[in-house]
Amino acid sequence: MTGTDQDAATRPATFTVRSPATGDPVGEHPVHGLEEVARAVERARTAAAGWAALPAGHRRAHLLRWKHALASSLDAVAKTIAAETGKPHGDAVLEVVLTLEHLNWAARNADRVLRRRRVRSGLLAANQRSSVVHRPLGVIGVIGPWNYPLYTPMGSIGYALAAGNAVVFKPSEHTPGTGVLLAELLASAVPEHAGLLTTVTGAAATGEALARSGVDKVAFTGSPGTARKVMAVCARSLTPLLAECGGKDATIVTADADLDAAADAVVWGALSNAGQTCAGVERVYAVREVHASLCRKVVERAGALRTGPVPDAVYGPMTMSAQTAVVRRHVEQALADGARALLGDSASIPASGAFVTPVVLADVPEDSPAMTEETFGPVVAINAVASVDEAVRRANASPYALAASVFSRDRRAGAAIAARLRAGAVSVNSVLGFAGVPALPFGGSGESGFGRIHGADGLRAFTAPQSVTVQRFAPPVNLTSFSTPAAARERAVAAARWLHRHH
Ligand code: NAD
Repeated sequence: MTGTDQDAATRPATFTVRSPATGDPVGEHPVHGLEEVARAVERARTAAAGWAALPAGHRRAHLLRWKHALASSLDAVAKTIAAETGKPHGDAVLEVVLTLEHLNWAARNADRVLRRRRVRSGLLAANQRSSVVHRPLGVIGVIGPWNYPLYTPMGSIGYALAAGNAVVFKPSEHTPGTGVLLAELLASAVPEHAGLLTTVTGAAATGEALARSGVDKVAFTGSPGTARKVMAVCARSLTPLLAECGGKDATIVTADADLDAAADAVVWGALSNAGQTCAGVERVYAVREVHASLCRKVVERAGALRTGPVPDAVYGPMTMSAQTAVVRRHVEQALADGARALLGDSASIPASGAFVTPVVLADVPEDSPAMTEETFGPVVAINAVASVDEAVRRANASPYALAASVFSRDRRAGAAIAARLRAGAVSVNSVLGFAGVPALPFGGSGESGFGRIHGADGLRAFTAPQSVTVQRFAPPVNLTSFSTPAAARERAVAAARWLHRHH
């Protein structure tokens, strides 16, 4: 799409969302273009002014009403998530529960984190009262992915609203119904602030329209390739961007680790949601003494899991057929590069059909795509390393740096290893432990993106600090006046020099 809404006449009015599990249609949504997006942003701007002017306590009460509505509709929301992504209902329920935790935290903590706080003025400006307050940016454009279509974008939406902004949300074209429901719930819970959250639907062009709509910040979650395109669009107007991209997360297993606990966590971290988790486990580095034993325990557990269109499936289908091709390429290339298939192989990935059964690989060469690129499927590579140092080196060698985990019975040693990892979040003796702690910031670096959602940093991400000084009395020597005699100025400078040389 270029400067105008040139495709308005030719683009289809709607698009159909199909269940990845069955191929059946599960929804029909409008394709919004530049004009519709611009209107949503305009409405949001009006809403933002009224919302930002509210006392913080009122915003909190409104957001808690929205949370109550979301909790009351938990099953309906989970049903929509499950229908659009194909994930088991129980997983969708867990996603809503996690989202409620975060919304609760954001609503209850925004005032404490963002309100005006005094800072020391220092000797030079002792006559000033200084403070800083974090003010909302205005309208935030949120572009979301499909793998956790509620939890992930709400890491931006909930925190941006709590910080006093309005939001226009473009969910993934695979999961628009979840986004529509979210905005409807807010509109009915908080009817007095129409336009506070608007969901616009469509694919890449709709996302691009939002990035160039003049919003005050874009919060993007998706692949690094798309992040680059969004960043290029944002660059034109210097619109700030927060980018939550993929991961190639590593788990380190030390010689003294509880191997049953580690295997259990690795299997869940790698296979839940069919491996379509940005902070899922994709690489495992186990020290040589425990490698074989860990592999055996992982295979035992993973081999017992059920997937497919069955009621006891622990994970669902691949949501995007294009990703299935990536998963197949990674597994085939790893085997061609000399990896060992401990469970499953390329036959686990059907040529047609979306259900991929678990694949556990060992001894995968470090330069094979299964070790360097995000696989985003139910595949895990378990490599042996000579030492924890080697594990840390290999974990840190990835261009991605989102999250990681460490297993060691010695919790202190585990935490010390965590401190050496180039990752935005690390769990010791669990996987994804940080995801359920709303006070913890989340985000990565390198190919995993930049900026933070969640926690106090996640609230501040949707604000700009404003510094204010209030002069309480005239300074003895005014350094910001042309009328100050040169001798007084020199005396002040001499005093400052003396101080800084001796303190
Ligand atoms: P994607 O990059 O294909 O799409 C993400 C969103 O961007 C979608 O809404 C899409 O419509 C939109 N989009 C596509 N092209 C665009 C363009 N040119 N301009 C503007 N918007 C555009 O990603 P996906 O396949 O939906 O999500 C999977 C990816 O997201 C994985 O890499 C995963 O690791 C990552 N992810 C990261 C996190 C995190 O918090 N770090 C969380 C979940 C998913």
